[in-house]
Amino acid sequence: HENAEYVVSRIRSVPGFPKEGIIFRDFMPVLSDARALRLLLEGMQSALPVPADSFDTIAGLEARGFLFGPALAAHLGKGFLAIRKAGKLPPQTIGESYDLEYGTASVEVETNLVHPGERVLIVDDLIATGGTAKAAADLIVKAGGVVVGFSFVMELIGLDGLSHLGGLPTSSLVSMP
Ligand code: 5GP
Repeated sequence: HENAEYVVSRIRSVPGFPKEGIIFRDFMPVLSDARALRLLLEGMQSALPVPADSFDTIAGLEARGFLFGPALAAHLGKGFLAIRKAGKLPPQTIGESYDLEYGTASVEVETNLVHPGERVLIVDDLIATGGTAKAAADLIVKAGGVVVGFSFVMELIGLDGLSHLGGLPTSSLVSMP
């Protein structure tokens, strides 16, 4: 409705970034707008894919999962776990590699911050192919946690990313091509 439309109106679309043929969806204008930021966080909170008492922690992906994840976690009375790109965290870390269009990437988490059986909701700004979110989930499991679901601000339609997440509950506030 009106609130969702307002948030969408603050998302900036940048054709040709980071390369030809891609339309980059830029969330920074959402963050800089007080009303849009509040509506976005309220929207994520009310669209959680699982009840708030079914997870202990929110994990966010570098870099834009760090913008919304901790704010949402604080609202819900949860902790926040940072999933970083390889090489940024001091040891002990555990990593998970995944395929990109060209080459591979990996994500890491601090081993001792994930408690055995800890129930984790994964948060990111956007899901395209789902490769990044899938790697994050595999990483949490490798570190001893349990992934209960995924929450995204935006889903790119046509790529079917949400169906690559092992059938776990997902939510996304907005869909765009
Ligand atoms: P995937 O692994 O699902 O193909 O790509 C999703 C990851 O790439 C997310 O971590 C997301 O932040 C980033 N990403 C891909 N395209 C965009 C975009 O258009 N806008 C933003 N903000 N992030 C993107």
